[in-house]
Amino acid sequence: MDLEALRTPTRFLQSLGISLPPELELRELEDWWEAEGKAISMMIDRLGTPWLRAFDRFGRRVDEILYPPDYRRMLLQGYRAGAVWHAFEGAGLPATFLIGYLTAFYDAGLYCPYTVSLATALVLHKYGDSELRDRFLPPLLRRDGEVWQGATWMTEAGGGSDLGATVETIARPGGPRWQLTGEKYFASNVGAELALVAARPEGAPRTVRGLALFLLPRYREDGSLNYTIRRLKDKIGTRAVPTGEVELRDSEAYLLGRPEEGIYLILEALNVSRVANSIGSVALMQRAIAEALTFAERRVAFGRPILEHPLMRRQFEERVRTLQAAFALAWTSVQMLDEVRMERPPYSPRYHLFRLLTHLAKYWTAEQAVQAAKWAMEVHGGMGVLGEYPVERWLREAMILPIWEGTPHRQILDGLEVMARKGAHRLLMEQLAPEADPRTLEEMMDRVEAHLRLPPDAQEAQAEPLFRDLARFTADTLLRRFRV
Ligand SMILES: Cc1cc2nc3c(=O)[nH]c(=O)nc-3n(C[C@H](O)[C@H](O)[C@H](O)COP(=O)(O)OP(=O)(O)OC[C@H]3O[C@@H](n4cnc5c(N)ncnc54)[C@H](O)[C@@H]3O)c2cc1C
Repeated sequence: MDLEALRTPTRFLQSLGISLPPELELRELEDWWEAEGKAISMMIDRLGTPWLRAFDRFGRRVDEILYPPDYRRMLLQGYRAGAVWHAFEGAGLPATFLIGYLTAFYDAGLYCPYTVSLATALVLHKYGDSELRDRFLPPLLRRDGEVWQGATWMTEAGGGSDLGATVETIARPGGPRWQLTGEKYFASNVGAELALVAARPEGAPRTVRGLALFLLPRYREDGSLNYTIRRLKDKIGTRAVPTGEVELRDSEAYLLGRPEEGIYLILEALNVSRVANSIGSVALMQRAIAEALTFAERRVAFGRPILEHPLMRRQFEERVRTLQAAFALAWTSVQMLDEVRMERPPYSPRYHLFRLLTHLAKYWTAEQAVQAAKWAMEVHGGMGVLGEYPVERWLREAMILPIWEGTPHRQILDGLEVMARKGAHRLLMEQLAPEADPRTLEEMMDRVEAHLRLPPDAQEAQAEPLFRDLARFTADTLLRRFRV
């Protein structure tokens, strides 16, 4: 086991045989994080929620979000490096996830603005008409301090899992633009210049099929605010990202795609974020294990560094193995996203395979991130729970990962659905066959098929152990494709 590879994100990526295109300048970005970014990130986490200035001194509504000055400097590093623009005019979509990996190793929360900006740009590029694209895509792809940010706002106060029932935001047609009225309850990267917003065209059914997706600019055509921010949320982690409650009052927005296909567009945006969430989870795992390593090498108990005790050593080996498998799963979902990203409904079987992989990756990597962060805290003993060292922060950050972009229940149930309705597990097994042990593969296939024959309630009730084992099996098998 090469523990040295854990020290930095680029070393870990290279240890798995991931090539780092020189034009990405990942090492330069890493150097910046080591020299300056780490300290800025730690300070912003400690300062807590950014501050909302709703009115200027003349009583006009401005809704400015105030951060420490260094925040903007830290945020711009990733945009300049190509966390969004590489997907369109550079080294390609996977490159943006490498920048995301590196970012999330240092600050898991900061990867959120890049992710939602990327999702906004990808959906706009794919479903916006040429006028919308020409107008709104270039500012999202800027490489300087004037770059625009995106956001993806679906969840409302009634809940995020059952969007078909809970989205109350109404969209009324009115010429080239629509008017949106409603409230978004968990709006990350609030303050963004553009947001993807789920709304229900007036008269559409109260189901997921009744939802459409809109592009909503921060300012109206006449320059006034197009949405207002009721308040910012005080969160345990991802404090570098302002998450707020947004009020829409006849807000100007542009329809993306066809209204009746809105739910597919919403899920496409969410799936980009789920892939990124998986990459971010793995990066956080690496960071937590790396912190544990630094401590375990130097902390002495019973006459030797705790790392040298057999039980601890074995735990490190197992953690690293799980980390590598988690990376293999997350990275394969990046590659599949790159392959199917231009598909439109009705999707091909490869797209459904991508969906299944993404549900497995989002579910499993987020859970492993929580477990790794908890374990890193235990390795630190009492020091681990103290606010003055970074390790407790990774647990706070990790706890966000299973929840946003769809909870574990959602991933399991949607994963089950794509297997039951589209048979995505068959294609998954075919893909895994060259590397898998044939008997284990057959057993897993039989288990899934038997599960899908259960009555619906039993299928749901008993889904978690199956999904967990399928994720581990998939991750371990995919790891054989990587250099380890
Ligand atoms: C830090 C943070 C940032 C966020 N940013 C955004 C954002 O930018 N945009 C956005 O749209 N949303 C955002 N969210 C919201 C997030 O997507 C939701 O929290 C998530 O989708 C779950 O919705 P909910 O919290 O309303 O829980 P609910 O939907 O109310 O669910 C409550 C619980 O019930 C479970 N549950 C629901 N249905 C079932 C079922 N059929 N079977 C079993 N269990 C079930 C859920 O899994 C969950 O455990 C953010 C959340 C967080 C924590």
